[in-house]
Amino acid sequence: MFAFVVRHLLGYGLLVLYMFLLNGCGGGTTAPSSEASADQKFKWKMVTAWPPNLPVNHDVITEFAAAVATMSRGQLTIQVFAGGELIPALEVFDAVSSGKTVQMGHGAAYYWAGKVPAAQFMSAVPFGLTASGMSAWMYAGDGLKLWRDLYAPFDILPFPMGNTGTQMGGWFNKRIDSPADLQGLKMRIPGLGGKTLAEAGGNSILYSGGLVYTALERGIIDAAEWVGPLHDVRLGLDRAAKYYYYPGWHEPSTQLELIVNKTAWESLPKHLQTIIDTAATAAGVALHARMEVENAKAYVKLRESGHVELVQFPQDVLATLHASAKRALDAEAGKDEGFHAVRDNYEAFRDLLDSWDQVSEGAYRQYFERATEERK
Ligand code: CA
Repeated sequence: MFAFVVRHLLGYGLLVLYMFLLNGCGGGTTAPSSEASADQKFKWKMVTAWPPNLPVNHDVITEFAAAVATMSRGQLTIQVFAGGELIPALEVFDAVSSGKTVQMGHGAAYYWAGKVPAAQFMSAVPFGLTASGMSAWMYAGDGLKLWRDLYAPFDILPFPMGNTGTQMGGWFNKRIDSPADLQGLKMRIPGLGGKTLAEAGGNSILYSGGLVYTALERGIIDAAEWVGPLHDVRLGLDRAAKYYYYPGWHEPSTQLELIVNKTAWESLPKHLQTIIDTAATAAGVALHARMEVENAKAYVKLRESGHVELVQFPQDVLATLHASAKRALDAEAGKDEGFHAVRDNYEAFRDLLDSWDQVSEGAYRQYFERATEERK
């Protein structure tokens, strides 16, 4: 710990010195990219909102940093710090915004809902887009542009970088057989999912990752959602609850983000900007792909172990939650103009994709659903 603090202080001291030299020389960090020296070296720091060694996230972020170093032939190197190693996990946005000690961060936009309510659309909203829909909205719709407008006042440039895929509905110690069972349900479920549950008559309670297991195991809460089989089992949630519900209606896909301090970004020559942009997209594809595979493996293992009961939410429970989600979103839109505007764009895009889905992937999947039903 002591060595870490010393390292931290030394790093900060060097940075202050560097900033002093930079300002003293009249360089500043706001020089447009075209004026940056073509061979100037950049040593950046990146902080994440994830615990150290979080499976998949940690590997992909480390590989992203290595790819940037390789592609830039060492001109831009990125040192990665997990949550708590340099700053607390939930201070990533502020740290990148100030740009004093770090230039980059990795997290999820809904963590910053307190500052930017509409940011939630850039990660996950109940009954919202799946991962492929989210990717379409980002790269071929207005998603990324709207996102950049939302973060601009904070001097932050966001990039999509990964997706958890569809999450699980959560771990329950009581069965949810009908909408009435949601009444008074005490559940760890953050953000708009929590607000939706409250609309449906339940209580959402927030615990950080480390406390979820204890709260559930001791019966302080009836239920808790986290991510999916891979990360949930790591947290020991399969030993704290009897029923594992699906699907994750509250997080039909959760997009993760790379955020870059805009002033630092503008100090980079154009080719380094292109390298970051390209490497982030590639890392995002890798992260989502690995989440799908690792969740599938963890799910099969869990199912075969037989120590938890896997249960699908009944249709009427999902319909109740869906109606509650609409009311929760209406309430948020009434409070924040940005939320209102982004929601309109998001929902129009979702409706467009839904029309196409009915005759493409949706129709294709329907065949297998019916075939499975017929075999039962
Ligand atoms: Ca979750």
